[in-house]
Amino acid sequence: MKSQDIRNTFLNFFQEKKHSIVPSAPMVLKNDPTLMFVNSGMAPFKEYFLGNAEPKNNRISDSQKCLRVSGKHNDLEEVGYDTYHHTLFEMLGNWSFGDYFKKEAVAWAWELLTEVYGIDKNILYVTVFEGSEDADQLPMDQEAYDFWKALIPEDRILMGNKKDNFWEMGEQGPCGPCSEIHVDIRSEEEKAKVDGKSLVNMDHPQVVEIWNLVFMQYNRKANGSLENLPDKHIDTGMGFERLCMVLQGVQSNYDTDVFTPIIREIEAITNKNYGNDDKVDIAIRVISDHVRAVAFSIADGQLPSNTGAGYVIRRILRRAVRYGFTFLDKKEPFIYRLVDVLVKKMGTAFPELKEQKHLIENVIKEEEVSFLRTLDQGLLLLDRIISDSDSKEISGEKVFELKDTYGFPEDLTDLILREKGYTYNNEEFLLRLKEQQERGKQASQLKSDDWTILHQDEVEEFIGYDTLEAHVKITRYRKVVSKKDGEMYQLVFNITPFYAEGGGQVGDKGYLEGQHGDVVYILNTKKENNLIIHFAKNLPKHTDEVLKAVVDAKQRYRTECNHTATHLLHQALREVLGTHVEQKGSAVHSKHLRFDFSHFSKLSIDELRDVENFVNSRIEGKLPLVEHRSVPKEQAIADGAMSLFGEKYGDSVRTIRFGQSIELCGGTHVKNTGDIWHFKIVSEGAVAAGIRRIEAITNDAVKDFYFENNRAYFEMKDLLNNAKKPVKALQNLQEENSDLKKQIENLLKDKAKNIKGDLKSEITEINGVQFLARKVDLDASGIKDLCFELGSQFDNLFLLFGSENNGKAILSCYISKELVASKDLNAGTIVRELGKHIQGGGGGQPFFATAGGKNPDGIDKAVNAAKSYIE
Ligand code: ATP
Ligand code: MG
Repeated sequence: MKSQDIRNTFLNFFQEKKHSIVPSAPMVLKNDPTLMFVNSGMAPFKEYFLGNAEPKNNRISDSQKCLRVSGKHNDLEEVGYDTYHHTLFEMLGNWSFGDYFKKEAVAWAWELLTEVYGIDKNILYVTVFEGSEDADQLPMDQEAYDFWKALIPEDRILMGNKKDNFWEMGEQGPCGPCSEIHVDIRSEEEKAKVDGKSLVNMDHPQVVEIWNLVFMQYNRKANGSLENLPDKHIDTGMGFERLCMVLQGVQSNYDTDVFTPIIREIEAITNKNYGNDDKVDIAIRVISDHVRAVAFSIADGQLPSNTGAGYVIRRILRRAVRYGFTFLDKKEPFIYRLVDVLVKKMGTAFPELKEQKHLIENVIKEEEVSFLRTLDQGLLLLDRIISDSDSKEISGEKVFELKDTYGFPEDLTDLILREKGYTYNNEEFLLRLKEQQERGKQASQLKSDDWTILHQDEVEEFIGYDTLEAHVKITRYRKVVSKKDGEMYQLVFNITPFYAEGGGQVGDKGYLEGQHGDVVYILNTKKENNLIIHFAKNLPKHTDEVLKAVVDAKQRYRTECNHTATHLLHQALREVLGTHVEQKGSAVHSKHLRFDFSHFSKLSIDELRDVENFVNSRIEGKLPLVEHRSVPKEQAIADGAMSLFGEKYGDSVRTIRFGQSIELCGGTHVKNTGDIWHFKIVSEGAVAAGIRRIEAITNDAVKDFYFENNRAYFEMKDLLNNAKKPVKALQNLQEENSDLKKQIENLLKDKAKNIKGDLKSEITEINGVQFLARKVDLDASGIKDLCFELGSQFDNLFLLFGSENNGKAILSCYISKELVASKDLNAGTIVRELGKHIQGGGGGQPFFATAGGKNPDGIDKAVNAAKSYIE
């Protein structure tokens, strides 16, 4: 069965079991501070499990893009070395939110695997949670055992411990026992030798877990204790690539049609063959895996960068480059050339790849070029470290520095060192690395209490599109402690006028006022698993009374001006530059806005002016806001609303329209473009290959901008004696200045000429050498010119000049080439020796050399000592 059909069969099966099929959510998470990337199928549904939102259907099924490269699930170091862990993989899943439970989950999984896919029952094992003797005192999962027993011989049901068979969402939250399904795809011969049962969960490459069925029935509280969940849920995840391996009868995920086209392409590009040499094979697996992770991430709007999720992506790509560089001898970019086959293979199931193919290729290529450059520089640095080292062991500190400051990876350092017969102090290196990681961990550590629930069943509502003030009740609150912000309280209300950070727009600030006039400031508002969370340094005095919640209106208004201007800017760019322009990121603050978009060249002054004019004409046009809060997504798109890759949209969406520009947007906007007053671009530049960034300001910030510029202008005019035409006056000054410079130069030249005339007469002959040693009042380059000029007029010349410049001493020595040979003189040696008098050193060539030192008082001594060389 082809992989495409395997995926469809799964989804069709669960559709028939009344599940809604949903597309994969974007891989990069926006509203979850505990997670950078989706790392399992359930992550996008967390809000349903936590009861913060209601799913439209309580049965859902999908294939979710997952990335396991950071945090709790990090498989990165395995990838390439084994045949069944990937960075990016698809997780096929079926979900029940308070609907069916263990019985159906078990029965359907079995039916699908054995009847629909036709997998031989005799290669399958299942595991059941055995219970725990620890503080939790959990019972064995007898229920699951009994359901399995009805389907499979008991000797194929294995007991599993808490590590493998008890699943937890995090430190806190929903959790429960699970049953895993494992396959044994070894040959009959191998099976006869070792019983498959003994290999389950033992990291055997052909006895692997394919599906995990999680039965969520408990909630873990902050103090560690468990309580029963009122609604029980099913969360299952099956590795798509592993399933393909089983159904296609191969022994490795990389031998399935998910990977073979990419591997063939790597072979063609690198002239290497897969399957002959371990190191080459690992490299090929690494690259074929990593190109997928990076391409999907870029398609989801996450570009490689220097921080956060972007940095993780950059590191994945660099790992691929490194393996290509080291084991496939690829010293020039080539990974971007794999995108084409990847898109051919996956573009139908994931159209975002197809639509952004060019961007993906460009970004990867640019990253490759720049990392290869880093590698080149690193090689030079490493050479220097080696030649400066007195011992055959390089310090761990140096290797760490190469990695940390220059991005040069330690395994490559190690390889090169070993080739040259060197080693490095690995212990010291690891220590430095650990110290750095600890520092990072501490900075981000977060500890949160359980929620104190004041009103259980109230679902929070955002009313801040219409009002900036409301009387609210606190429905729940908790304390969180982080290194960065210290102690903070998180508050959730029944209704709130506060906008939570999202869609690029910052969260609202403001305050809460109690009935006795006590005030608590709201410092920020963010969304987490569908809750709107207000951050405050303290709790209101009375958490149970009705409070007045007031949004900082000025900040909100300025932010709205910038948000609406962002939409107009997007439209202007498409109008002026073309419809290839796509939003790649935006940040809407109260003071400024930032907009990233796909475009391949720098904007000209004319283009920038056209863009500004376009936006300002829409502002002057006083276009009213036309808002639809709840439109079916398909209809909105059909109406021409622009949606963004990497955004997670619900079935019904909000559309925002000003004139011709319609966008899907949850943010807040001015009621009329006229409110923006004016729009001004303050910078334009590149952020990555094919991505440009514009920063701009509106409203008060534009006034400040003009005010500041105006002030600078008047200050300048003042300095120019109130000139009527300051620009002209400044130009005159510049001209005058350059004239004066020229005059000084000429004067200096004349001076040197005069000195030369005087000096010529001072040259005396000693032992057939034309000799002169003295102090002169010239700078280093003046002396050099002088030496060479005299050198062209005299044969057998020996010159030593001392001079003082800004408190420092300089010695210059010139010796005619014929003297260098006949008398075995060397200017370099001479200045080094004489340099001792001026407490300095230097060098150069045998016929001309200079020394610098910090003791001008020694110049005379040095000059006097010069004669000894020819006497
Ligand atoms: P393993 O022990 O093999 O790493 P896991 O216990 O981490 O698996 P789960 O978290 O239960 O796996 O994920 C559910 C399923 O997703 C697994 O049964 C497996 O088929 C698949 N899976 C997990 N991690 C990966 C990965 N890195 N690459 C490919 N598939 C994976
Ligand atoms: Mg794992």
